[in-house]
Amino acid sequence: MSEQRETLEVDVVIVGGGPGGLAAAYWLQKSIQKHNDAIDRGAYGGTKLGELSIVVLEKGPEIGNHVLSGAVMDPRAIKELMPDYEEQGCPGVPVTSDEVWYFTKGGKLKPPYLPPYIHNDGNRIVSISRLVRWLAPKVEELGVQVFPGFPAAELLFEGDAWSVSAPATRASTSTVRRRRTSSPGSTSARS
Ligand SMILES: Cc1cc2nc3c(=O)[nH]c(=O)nc-3n(C[C@H](O)[C@H](O)[C@H](O)COP(=O)(O)OP(=O)(O)OC[C@H]3O[C@@H](n4cnc5c(N)ncnc54)[C@H](O)[C@@H]3O)c2cc1C
Repeated sequence: MSEQRETLEVDVVIVGGGPGGLAAAYWLQKSIQKHNDAIDRGAYGGTKLGELSIVVLEKGPEIGNHVLSGAVMDPRAIKELMPDYEEQGCPGVPVTSDEVWYFTKGGKLKPPYLPPYIHNDGNRIVSISRLVRWLAPKVEELGVQVFPGFPAAELLFEGDAWSVSAPATRASTSTVRRRRTSSPGSTSARS
């Protein structure tokens, strides 16, 4: 029996729904909005970008399933991406104190001095899995499509076009493909 593959045409394909992929999608969509708003306000010349379709492909069955590390996060990047991240309910708690202990067979020792790079003042303790589960809906609210359960297996080239395909399994028989045209707002992909 021949395999039926679904096709979805998109402009931008981001492989991986970890913090990097989701942040990239969020930043890109926000940048497009800022650009279009600036042109509406007459802040600079140029043309508005049409609505671009952006997808994030994630191999895990759900966002957050494949990012397992607990983390002490330097919040610089999330501050830049989303200045009101705390008001928006970013998970995690700020670090309030640091202690380092050496454990011996019979006891414990506290070093008298800790170099500054060991301190975590200003950082945030967060589970990365929770972070991406919180970020993914924010990315979707901006109009990005997030596809969990899509393991990008192959990058296929056809002339100047390319596509990303998932392995043909019972769960997924899809290909995401970038449109052949390169003008803004008119790219595409298949899934
Ligand atoms: C044990 C451990 C502890 C760490 N502790 C800290 C810490 O305390 N502080 C800190 O700042 N950083 C820490 N890190 C590093 C941090 O986890 C990474 O810097 C961060 O997760 C990188 O984000 P990323 O989105 O680039 O990649 P990842 O988090 O690895 O996300 C990649 C995503 O892409 C998906 N993916 C991969 N291949 C495909 C494919 N072919 N198709 C579709 N989806 C795919 C994966 O399932 C995953 O969801 C730690 C890492 C580890 C392993």
